[in-house]
Amino acid sequence: MSLSVSQRCRNIQPSVTLAIDSRAKQLRAMGLDVIGFGAGEPDFDTPKYIKDAAKDALDAGLTKYTPVAGTVELRTEIQAKLLRDNRLEYEPTDIVVSTGAKQCLYNALCAILDPGDEVLIPAPCWVSYPEMVQMAGGVPIMVKGDEKENFVVSPAELEAHVTPKTKALILNSPNNPTGSVLSGQILRAYADIAVRHEFFVLSDEIYEKLIYDGGRHVSIASLGEDIKAQTIVINGVSKSYAMTGWRIGYAAGPKNVIKAMTSFQSHTTSNANSIAQHAAAVALTDGEKFMHESFMEFNARRNLMYDMLTSIDGLKCHLPAGAFYMMLDISSLIGKSVNGKEIRGSDDFAGALLESKLVAVVPARAFGDDRYVRLSYATTREKIIVGIGRIAEFVKECE
Ligand code: PMP
Ligand code: GLU
Repeated sequence: MSLSVSQRCRNIQPSVTLAIDSRAKQLRAMGLDVIGFGAGEPDFDTPKYIKDAAKDALDAGLTKYTPVAGTVELRTEIQAKLLRDNRLEYEPTDIVVSTGAKQCLYNALCAILDPGDEVLIPAPCWVSYPEMVQMAGGVPIMVKGDEKENFVVSPAELEAHVTPKTKALILNSPNNPTGSVLSGQILRAYADIAVRHEFFVLSDEIYEKLIYDGGRHVSIASLGEDIKAQTIVINGVSKSYAMTGWRIGYAAGPKNVIKAMTSFQSHTTSNANSIAQHAAAVALTDGEKFMHESFMEFNARRNLMYDMLTSIDGLKCHLPAGAFYMMLDISSLIGKSVNGKEIRGSDDFAGALLESKLVAVVPARAFGDDRYVRLSYATTREKIIVGIGRIAEFVKECE
């Protein structure tokens, strides 16, 4: 035998979004004035009523193991939330709480995939989906969205990628990294395909509260009993309640899948943090005012960033309909050089920008399209003004 790590782990790429964020934080700790458009993490503090709930949980001694699937208190609040916001009826036994939506996604994939099963992933997509599918033994099948349609994959294109091995489709609306929002009509068409070919849908709805210009979130599971029976809805408190570090996510879906996810989790991490679970339950009872205020602020930042970026010669971008990301088209700069170094793709662009202007962005190669970089506008307007100003200088220096 050898002392090497497994084949499976050798092939895993570390999360680029998290790596860029930690690099930016490291440079900042060294005293450098870095502007971070890297990780998608609300910059607001967790609201006080939620922090108070965590303190209450500690004082009340809620410091022991909870049921693996989550406390009844939290699952009951999630049940109420899914009915209230998404018109979805679930029993607490149809819900499992995990350490972030990230763990829910991975548990769900492990619960449904056998080796070689295919998972359709509309692209560009969040960096962790294809890695997670592979870690769970599946094969990611990337389906490129049409740029002219805000990167939305047409139902015909999606269906063209279905094979007898297709086991699931991962949807993410609003989308990270494109900001696209799937309409009820598109979701209906996707649902018909999933029902016709009998595969699961993992619906990642973590950005549901961030849809601009009067748009509305539709959960694919709400479109009928047939598609609901094949859908695993995934959500969490990270983005809506500025609770990224608390690590609480949840999944709701068919009983057999939720049961398998719970058994799987019982042997890996057991329950999610007991204090954070109580805080999340309390978060879900309130927070409308906080979410409205953060929504208004994100909207103002989106408009500011878009106006500034589109006024820079040589760059293009779409106005995203949701989430807090913007895809910046850098294709006109590919092949040019800055400080004597050629920009061959999004990694070079992001590396050179961080090095020379101290602005962190995520190369979209990680999301499946090397002609773009992703900017997160989950940062203050002041930083957006300074950061985009530096990007404008950088572009001028490319020759
Ligand atoms: N899905 C998407 C699309 C995301 O961008 C993120 C980012 N964190 C997650 C899931 C995971 O969220 P959580 O913090 O709940 O694990
Ligand atoms: N989801 C966020 C992002 O894409 C946070 C980092 C991560 O979990 O990937 O930036």
